[in-house]
Amino acid sequence: MNTVYLSIGTNMGEREANLKLAVKLLTEAQGVRVEAVSSIYETAPVGFIEQAAFLNIAVRLTTDLSSAKMLHLCQKIEQELGRIREFRWGPRIIDLDILLYNHENIETESLIVPHERMFERAFVLVPLMEISTPATGQLGRAYEALASIDIQKEGVVQWKKSVTVEEFVRSES
Ligand code: ATP
Ligand code: MG
Ligand code: MG
Repeated sequence: MNTVYLSIGTNMGEREANLKLAVKLLTEAQGVRVEAVSSIYETAPVGFIEQAAFLNIAVRLTTDLSSAKMLHLCQKIEQELGRIREFRWGPRIIDLDILLYNHENIETESLIVPHERMFERAFVLVPLMEISTPATGQLGRAYEALASIDIQKEGVVQWKKSVTVEEFVRSES
């Protein structure tokens, strides 16, 4: 069994509903067991401040899917949400990124794990910290990276407290 951490973000449409649908689709996927979902964090946009604030979560799951199949599933879920909302909100309403896949270092044409930019992103590290315990290796590196980041300055604010996976998927937004 493989342990995988995902980062999921959205800043278009019904943001909370987008996160819930993405997690629901993960729970329904063959060979995937969603173990934990973090609180929802809101992150003020930086750079293009014209765009809406992001909601971000981290998800811990176990799976017998290979890393390539896991990426494929993430992209399928992105497409599924994109398709549902496309005519209304535009195509980029959800982003599912693989942060960690066990302790593996993966570098293929379509997949780089650990996620290349995770260690500098407070909106990734803050929720990740909530659903993991400090450790050595890549998670340890994530904890160290977060210690040197000014979370407030990065504009990451807890938006909704964490609940169980079942409640997260079930509750209405
Ligand atoms: P960022 O990577 O900076 O978070 P993004 O998530 O918006 O940007 P996408 O458009 O979602 O970027 O993905 C671009 C490509 O990244 C995908 O086609 C995918 O093959 C590749 N990719 C590489 N590593 C990963 C990973 N760890 N998780 C998800 N996609 C990845
Ligand atoms: Mg991303
Ligand atoms: Mg992505």
